[in-house]
Amino acid sequence: MATHRNSRSPLVINIARLGRRPGSMMTFQETVPSPARIGLELAAIPEGAPLELDLRIESVSEGALVTGTMSAPTTGECARCLTPVTGDVEIDLTELFAYPDSATEATTDADEVGHVVNDSVDLEQPVIDAVGLALPFSPLCGPDCQGLCPDCGIPMATAEPGHHHEKIDPRWAKLSSMLETDDK
Ligand SMILES: [Zn+2]
Ligand SMILES: [Zn+2]
Repeated sequence: MATHRNSRSPLVINIARLGRRPGSMMTFQETVPSPARIGLELAAIPEGAPLELDLRIESVSEGALVTGTMSAPTTGECARCLTPVTGDVEIDLTELFAYPDSATEATTDADEVGHVVNDSVDLEQPVIDAVGLALPFSPLCGPDCQGLCPDCGIPMATAEPGHHHEKIDPRWAKLSSMLETDDK
């Protein structure tokens, strides 16, 4: 059955103990391994990294409302100098999952509003979406990253102080341009 597709993802949370009486509430505070690499090209939560979930799940008339936070470590590389960069990301989640047979479920598609399936809510897609918005497209190793040496390509952050290259002596430059003219 298709509904079992994600049943083993650690971001699928069983809410059977919540019940469907509006006003009932449960909390979910657990650290689970990330089911996949989640994030952007240059910064992401690695697969298996700890996702720290601090959630409150309330029964409302049409479904289960999940609110709370998730935080996790990230790895990536500096967009300027490609040095590995580690960090954290914290996201806020507010997600309604419609109960089976509710009017909300009947009038929405699964990709508009999450649905409670087998007494569970699947937070994977909301987490992927929120992390994608929270992470920087161009992470930097530091606010004053000097990037790569334009001449040899090493990260300026790891180069010796005053790293530079002897530019060709202007007199030689003149000579070589004269030689070029002679070639014609
Ligand atoms: Zn950098
Ligand atoms: Zn250099």
